[in-house]
Amino acid sequence: MKGRIEFIIKDYVNQYESIEGIKSRWKEPIVAFADAEDPMFSKLKEVVAPTHAMPRDFMADGRTIISYFLPFEDFIPNSNIGGRISSKTWAIAYVETNELIASLNAYIKKRIEELGHGAELIPMALNYAPDNLKSDWSQRHVAYIAGLGKFGINNMLITEKGCCGRVGSIITNLKIEPTIRDEGEYCLYKAGLNCTKCIDNCINEALVGDEFHRERCYEMCRENGERYKHLGHSEVCGKCLVGIPCSFENPALK
Ligand code: SF4
Ligand code: SF4
Repeated sequence: MKGRIEFIIKDYVNQYESIEGIKSRWKEPIVAFADAEDPMFSKLKEVVAPTHAMPRDFMADGRTIISYFLPFEDFIPNSNIGGRISSKTWAIAYVETNELIASLNAYIKKRIEELGHGAELIPMALNYAPDNLKSDWSQRHVAYIAGLGKFGINNMLITEKGCCGRVGSIITNLKIEPTIRDEGEYCLYKAGLNCTKCIDNCINEALVGDEFHRERCYEMCRENGERYKHLGHSEVCGKCLVGIPCSFENPALK
């Protein structure tokens, strides 16, 4: 079943690119699985927010969280290198990938139901509010639990295909063997090596040392959102993700 779910996701993303008008392109997705009862989920109430949801809040008999990473093709991050304002290509990729995730999750649910099992959708930014700038379902933390990658000091998840892309998730009552989380860090700084490229790239002093000033980051995202509001909801920045050693790969493997 693991292989079948992976195929459903990879094939859907591949086909999605041929829809007329879609400008973004994605590399082959990475898919990982977490046990819905993994004790690490309860730690998110401390690490993210006391109101963070648990998998079974979405599906009482849910057994597995399917988490995936949709890596952008290189031209998208490369378009966002330099300058203060995000590139239009980067903003479009954000809007289009959000739409892709919504559509992909609906498709995964339908295919799992056709196989005689159940799945439930999880809102992309559950209870996200400007006053705390946090979601009650942190896709990146969930992806970490599922073994998709490790956090960099830029607060992004570094996967085997880097950090330039988006994560999504869905819950199913299928029992699928969990992905094993790697030992060790993927971020060079966290691995004790000499890298602060993401901090150097931050254009609004949101990343300072190993501190993250969420409100300064959001201020920059709002500025871009205003600039690109004609494209849809595009509160993005991403300067700390591009042109760095972990943009497209896990640099600790080099
Ligand atoms: S740029 Fe360097 S320090 Fe920053 S997250 Fe990537 S590997 Fe870590
Ligand atoms: S998204 Fe932009 S403002 Fe936020 S931390 Fe990265 S570079 Fe800084």
